[in-house]
Amino acid sequence: MEKIVSLCKRRGFIFQSSEIYGGLNGVWDYGPLGVELKRNLKNYWWRVMVHERDNIVGLDGSILTNPEVLKASGHVEGFSDLLVDCRTCKSRMRADQVVGKKGVQCCPRCGSQDLTEAREFNLMLETRIGSIDSRSAVTYAKPAADLTGATGPGMSSTSSESQLVAVRGPAGELVTSVYLRPETAQTIFVHFKNILEVSRKKLPFGIAQIGKAFRNEINPRNFTFRSREFEQMELEYFCRPEEGMKLLEYWKEERLKFYENIGIPRSKLHVLTVPDEERAFYSKGTYDIEYEFPFGRHELEGVANRTDYDLSQHQKASGKSLEYFDEETKQKFIPHVIEPSAGVDRTVLALICEAYSEDQAPDEKGKMETRTVLRFHPRMAPIKCAVFPLLKNKEPLVAKAKEIVDLLRPHLFVFYDESGAIGRRYRRQDEIGTPFGITVDFETLGEKDAKLRDTVTLRERDSMKQERVAIKDLVNTLKSRIH
Ligand SMILES: [Zn+2]
Repeated sequence: MEKIVSLCKRRGFIFQSSEIYGGLNGVWDYGPLGVELKRNLKNYWWRVMVHERDNIVGLDGSILTNPEVLKASGHVEGFSDLLVDCRTCKSRMRADQVVGKKGVQCCPRCGSQDLTEAREFNLMLETRIGSIDSRSAVTYAKPAADLTGATGPGMSSTSSESQLVAVRGPAGELVTSVYLRPETAQTIFVHFKNILEVSRKKLPFGIAQIGKAFRNEINPRNFTFRSREFEQMELEYFCRPEEGMKLLEYWKEERLKFYENIGIPRSKLHVLTVPDEERAFYSKGTYDIEYEFPFGRHELEGVANRTDYDLSQHQKASGKSLEYFDEETKQKFIPHVIEPSAGVDRTVLALICEAYSEDQAPDEKGKMETRTVLRFHPRMAPIKCAVFPLLKNKEPLVAKAKEIVDLLRPHLFVFYDESGAIGRRYRRQDEIGTPFGITVDFETLGEKDAKLRDTVTLRERDSMKQERVAIKDLVNTLKSRIH
């Protein structure tokens, strides 16, 4: 795992957030190659989940969430972990991380038995909206109208910080605490009726969303696996209640296929049937799709039958009907929902772990050396193809190579590199997982054999095999191997 973390930093996949200031625990940034990999993953998910289906539409909801939404969903009350402090070394851990030695509870770091009682810790991150914060509170000693130029009913002002939450803005809006969403799903449930109306879909149909979510994890760990800020790819697939269990199986299989199609073999995936006692109380069935990370087997995605719990809760709390009317049967009911919910960052990490390998390859002089190679599926690879002129000081080679870059660019993400020996250039691309390399040589110019004019060497990353391909066939050849 250390080699992977170091490669991620060295080649610009993943950096620690705010690194020059010492970082921020549980938060990560994606560099030039990381952002490409992440985009390829999200775009492919969107393609197979939304564009290639008739009955799924998209949504891009906001991160700031009205607390009423999360009260209704149960997050304000129940979205918490049990927390324990060690009085000896002052470390803080989740209750399930406390180790038991001979039936006695101990601190996993120092071994002390002097632990606090477990207590609830809500994992949601809170912020405030409205023109107020503790640093600018003093300005509210003036009437609010002076600050904004607006007047209106229900306006009041205060200079007391303890009363901040009760302050009203000029429009009568209550300045209030809001949450950063802990999952993207709730935005979907809240817009169920809007989307049903505008999309004119019939059950079963789904709403898909990719976006950021936040959890104040007690112990962020395992590189990007458990982060405080992360991205989700979620689908809420609404159906008739009696179809729920069948669709749960359907989506589990679809999602397993997805991972295989991005280069994570079935043999490295495990499907865990979450036992009754560990499942959310409203769920009728949950599968966890797990991947064998170098640090253990961990969840990439949950596929759950959430029943009508969320829509019922929001209907009750908002007083707005979230029922579906079936034209054929003339029935009115709250649909059930199947939710495949995948973690973007976890899947990116799985892709990197799965792709990482070392093998033996000949160097410039034919001596075998260790080669680091990321064997990404071409579909996921950050850069699809690198283009090299054999020599950088031969103008016709450089000109031809640049012509090829222009030819390929509208179709795929290419990278041009003219510096260093050709073997070293191949190696650099192997290390970042570029599946194809094109070399423009003297044959391309027709100097040795007229028949080879306007052909190039196409090298494949994993086998290192080279073939001769006509420039005019390059686009189609590459597209058919990447898709
Ligand atoms: Zn301790």
